[in-house]
Amino acid sequence: MHHTIEIMRRRFIADALAATSKFQNMRLFNIINNDLLKKRMLESDEKRTTLSFYKYAHIDQPEKFRNELYVLLSEIGVFGRIYVAEEGINAQISVPTQNLEELRKRLYSIPFLNGVRLNIAVDDNGKSFYKLKIKVRPKIVADGLDDGSFDVTKRGTPVDAETFNRLAADPNTVIVDMRNHYESEVGHFKGAICPDAATFREALPKVEQILADKKDKNIVMYCTGGIRCEKASAYFLNKGFKKVFMLDGGIIEYARQCREKNLPNLFMGKNFVFDERLGERISPDVIARCHQCGRPCDTHVNCANEACHLLFIQCESCAEKYHNCCSKTCADFIQLPADERERLKKTIVFNGSKFSKGHYKAWHRAKGPLAEN
Ligand SMILES: [Zn+2]
Ligand SMILES: [Zn+2]
Repeated sequence: MHHTIEIMRRRFIADALAATSKFQNMRLFNIINNDLLKKRMLESDEKRTTLSFYKYAHIDQPEKFRNELYVLLSEIGVFGRIYVAEEGINAQISVPTQNLEELRKRLYSIPFLNGVRLNIAVDDNGKSFYKLKIKVRPKIVADGLDDGSFDVTKRGTPVDAETFNRLAADPNTVIVDMRNHYESEVGHFKGAICPDAATFREALPKVEQILADKKDKNIVMYCTGGIRCEKASAYFLNKGFKKVFMLDGGIIEYARQCREKNLPNLFMGKNFVFDERLGERISPDVIARCHQCGRPCDTHVNCANEACHLLFIQCESCAEKYHNCCSKTCADFIQLPADERERLKKTIVFNGSKFSKGHYKAWHRAKGPLAEN
């Protein structure tokens, strides 16, 4: 009896040790400084392809899956941002172009990702990401919804670019942009409803209100790559809307199909993307304005003052005038010596913070154009 227990105990320890050393041999997180990585990426002439994919699927052990995925992707030089949750995976990444097929092979070897569509970026200089970050989250998109209250697998009818254009020409159709205001500000479909929302969570009830008297219309939703519409369309079907459609693969896939099949492109301006590029040009139209001088401009930037980091639209001449900052306060601040900045940063209120992405609009409305404050 004791003998058996002793053997089991030894085996257990041996297994645990093996697991630990295996774990220590793998590098599961990036430990190099961000600035250095970014500099390396910008200076490198390696050809990289930017792409995104997502899949709603049940993942039993997100942490374990995350670690395996990290090894699988870091081995072939993938950079980017990936969220893993029990409800699925959402990935925005870049890969050395020569490893693109290997990436496809590796992803397709994971049963629930076999055949997943990889949305290849249309306007890509390969400078989208500079490191790999995979995070386990409660959800792959923060939607604030109680998924138990409706059937998330009953999504709206997916449509391709051609069908989208046909539906758009129908007077009985309402096109809804399910993205945030700072995304639709620089680009959206002609005639689309663009809710004034800073997050997806905020957009859902706003859109519901706007559509309250349009339950019999064709509701056509779109977002960047389709992930938000998949949830939103299921939500609206559950709310009693009858004809709910979603642009399959989102703006990215729409733009690709328009180019490939030579279809008329109904999307005006830029497709906002959540990486270093901040936008992909889809049409030559510039539909936004510089937040500082009001001239036509659709270039998103983050305030160069790291303590502020506000996301806003800035033209080249204002970038020069304000030293790439959102305000004179920030421009003055970044000229101070480092120790003084460190001392003062907690006492000064800037226009935004790292966590206020998108808040500029509310700020902007309250004070008018970002001025010399
Ligand atoms: Zn300007
Ligand atoms: Zn600022």
